[in-house]
Amino acid sequence: MKIEENVSLAAHSTMRLGGNARYLADVNNQQELQELIAWAKPYNLPVIMIGRGSNIIWRDEGFNGLVLVNKIMGKALLAEDNHSATLKIFSGENWDKTVGWAVDKKLTGIEYMSLVPGTVGAAPVQNVGAYGGELSDSLLELEAYDNQFGAFVKLQNHECGFSYRSSRFKTTDRGRFFIISITLTLRKTDPVPPFYESLQRYLDEHGIHKYTPKTIRKAVIDIRQNKLPDPEKVANNGSFFTNPVVDTAKFEALRAKYPDIKGWPTSDGRMKIAAGWLVETAGFKGVRDEPTGMATWPAQALVLVNEHARRTTDLLEFKQKILFKVEELFDVILEQEPELLPQI
Ligand SMILES: Cc1cc2nc3c(=O)[nH]c(=O)nc-3n(C[C@H](O)[C@H](O)[C@H](O)COP(=O)(O)OP(=O)(O)OC[C@H]3O[C@@H](n4cnc5c(N)ncnc54)[C@H](O)[C@@H]3O)c2cc1C
Repeated sequence: MKIEENVSLAAHSTMRLGGNARYLADVNNQQELQELIAWAKPYNLPVIMIGRGSNIIWRDEGFNGLVLVNKIMGKALLAEDNHSATLKIFSGENWDKTVGWAVDKKLTGIEYMSLVPGTVGAAPVQNVGAYGGELSDSLLELEAYDNQFGAFVKLQNHECGFSYRSSRFKTTDRGRFFIISITLTLRKTDPVPPFYESLQRYLDEHGIHKYTPKTIRKAVIDIRQNKLPDPEKVANNGSFFTNPVVDTAKFEALRAKYPDIKGWPTSDGRMKIAAGWLVETAGFKGVRDEPTGMATWPAQALVLVNEHARRTTDLLEFKQKILFKVEELFDVILEQEPELLPQI
């Protein structure tokens, strides 16, 4: 067990900003996890588990505790019949490689989430989703260390409190569970339409009429590579704001003023507005903000990019400019998707 002291957290966020972790250690297995938690206890240090940092923005003050970097690896096919297969994947595995592994087995269910950066263990935290699919559609159960009761537990899908880009791990039980593995049930049948609008458009434009997990994965990867910056090369956290939900009256009032507004109905009878459209229409597509060193990505205004920002406060200042303009124009308050840590 190697515990490092005063480690820069910028390398542990794809936005590449933030102060230091007082302590940081890699975790390779369940035993190490327990040992590290036990080590932190007498010092009363807060403990957090992270993956690749693709959904984290660290504060400039850093984290006055122990950061555990998840390296718990392994995956296995647990069971299969004619219709489905059950896979167990440990939480330190790369999410996209896991999707590729499942697709190679001709399994359907998570191909829409191809190329989402990060680890398997973080996927349940915000119920990762893309192109009309989300993790909760396929997750059977997960295994976690419950730091409140000091025991390993299994949580079934319905116990995870999943909703759009959220779960109990991000809300009521934030920081309580360290996710060790997930178990997925995937189908042996091919994906069926209706597909997400932009995905269907891509499939039509490219003359792809045979829908398999492989063709869908390839299409999603191509769309994403053309639209989103690669976090290995460009510092960013993907979509910076979630799509706001408003009642239909408000949506219709906005549509009367902005006929090209992009939105779609939710299952509870309200309307979700495309946050990217709001940010772009507010004049922030491909904007470079010299005072803060921040920018929005030219192909997708929803992605905030760190060009030469030095502090997280620079990023937050730029975010505030966007929030202000969007609220002024549309009377809609955008919610940030990546977590600002530590929470205060
Ligand atoms: C270019 C880009 C595109 C993206 N596109 C999408 C997208 O289409 N859809 C989408 O949903 N997200 C997207 N994201 C966000 C991000 O990829 C996901 O949220 C991903 O699941 C984060 O994985 P991570 O390993 O980097 O988690 P981290 O950022 O390291 O952690 C995120 C949160 O999960 C917690 N956590 C991490 N691992 C564990 C664990 N094992 N147990 C308990 N808690 C844990 C952390 O404490 C933190 O609170 C995108 C990000 C980028 C940079």
